[in-house]
This record gives sequence, structure tokens and C-alpha cells, in this order.
Amino acid sequence: MQKALFLDRDGVINIDYGYVSKIEDFQFTEGIFELLRLFLDRGYMLFIVTNQSGIGRGYYTKEDFLTLTSYMLDEFKKREIEIASIEYCPHAPEERCSCRKPATGMVDNILAKYKIDLDNSWLIGDKQSDIDLAHNAKIAHTIAIGERKIENATYAFRTIWDCKLFLEKNNGIF
Ligand SMILES: [Mg+2]
Ligand SMILES: [Zn+2]
Repeated sequence: MQKALFLDRDGVINIDYGYVSKIEDFQFTEGIFELLRLFLDRGYMLFIVTNQSGIGRGYYTKEDFLTLTSYMLDEFKKREIEIASIEYCPHAPEERCSCRKPATGMVDNILAKYKIDLDNSWLIGDKQSDIDLAHNAKIAHTIAIGERKIENATYAFRTIWDCKLFLEKNNGIF
């Protein structure tokens, strides 16, 4: 059984300017590489689960998303950070799909391919729908990032940097 860290993308990995779809708008959050290193060094697999309704709304295309994704993965690879897989929901809310967070479709896809120990897994997100996904999918531990008021997260930090500092100091908790 494998421990996993499930990551939201916008607002966690990169600064959320709203429907980010271009490489020039993709700015990694401060501390994200170091934070992911902490989890990798402790044997966690990394997964990204991201709502990309900008595709369904027609703001950008699936190809734009995949181009940006390969840029992001290259930047991770340069730092020896391996992302096991990326799941994305391309649907607009009115399509009522089963993958848009807080629905569990994206996590279900991962669980079909990997044996994940959910009791010892974590999710980091910046919206209530991320934390609700974790609860719906039974991912035991959650971290909320940012200024939004989010309920039911295990921990909350203003920034990824603050989160990274906390986990470095409290490395018995994960
Ligand atoms: Mg987000
Ligand atoms: Zn969907």
C-alpha cells in the first residue's frame, strides 16, 4: 500500500490568476518544490487532481492544457520531482459530470490504477471543493492554503511557504 499526496493545481502548485492556460502565466508558488521534496523523501506518491472547467467553458482548449502540463512536468523533472499521474476534469459545472471536484471521479481513476493507503494520505487544496473531495474520497488528512474560509481541513496555512515551514518543523505528523 502506497501513501499518496493529492494536489490541486491552481492556487497550490501555481499562483491562481484565474483560468491559467499559458506558460507565461504559470508561476510556481514559492516553496512548492521544497514541499513536494519533503513528501517524496518520505515515500509518498504525488498525484495532481485539477478542475479545468476553462476547457468546457471554451476559454482554452484541451491542447492548451496539455501543453502547459508538459511544461509543468518538465520543470518538476529538472528538480527530480516525479508526478505519478495527473487527472483533470475538463467539464463545465452544468455538464454535471462525475469528475468535477468535490465529486470523486478523478480520485477513483487513480485508485483503480494504484493501491493507495488513504488513511495515510494527504490532500492539499485552496478551495472548499478540494477539502470536500478529500472527505468524499476518504483521504484522511487535508491542508487548506490561502485566504479563503475553508471548513473541515486538518491544517490551514496562508501560503505554501508557510505550509512547508510547518511540515519541516513538525515532520512527525506525516
Ligand atoms: Mg485551486
Ligand atoms: Zn468532469
